[in-house]
Amino acid sequence: MTHVPPRSLAQALWRGGRGHCPRCDGARLFAAWLRPVAHCPACGQDWRGHRADDFPPYLAILVTGHVMAPVIIELGLHTALSWPVMLALCLVMTVTLVLGLLQPAKGAVIALQWWLGLHGFAADPGKAGRPLSEPAIETRNRNET
Ligand SMILES: [Zn+2]
Repeated sequence: MTHVPPRSLAQALWRGGRGHCPRCDGARLFAAWLRPVAHCPACGQDWRGHRADDFPPYLAILVTGHVMAPVIIELGLHTALSWPVMLALCLVMTVTLVLGLLQPAKGAVIALQWWLGLHGFAADPGKAGRPLSEPAIETRNRNET
């Protein structure tokens, strides 16, 4: 089965952010909530080389803070909510937003690392619009002696 490779970084990020394989868009990127699959079942891409680490939570917190700050200010200025109600409301909205953004952020970070050839994704032949007729070849740059 031949899948269409991404033509741009934005398309790869969109695929990863939706939880799809950034390389082929033919299968899910995650086996569990934040655990990516080892290999894409559709194109064979090895996803074990990603090093997303703390960057996805950083992005989720950054976006959540920029969304919630104006919401909290508006609630404080234009509503007559008591402080326990406002605290509970803001905590629920904040936690929901952060948890909802974690997987898309991780998918996008993995797609970014794959597109740039970082870490374990060096020289993938499936980028830049080339057809994906064969499984990805693991071409890690190992400097082992
Ligand atoms: Zn794939």
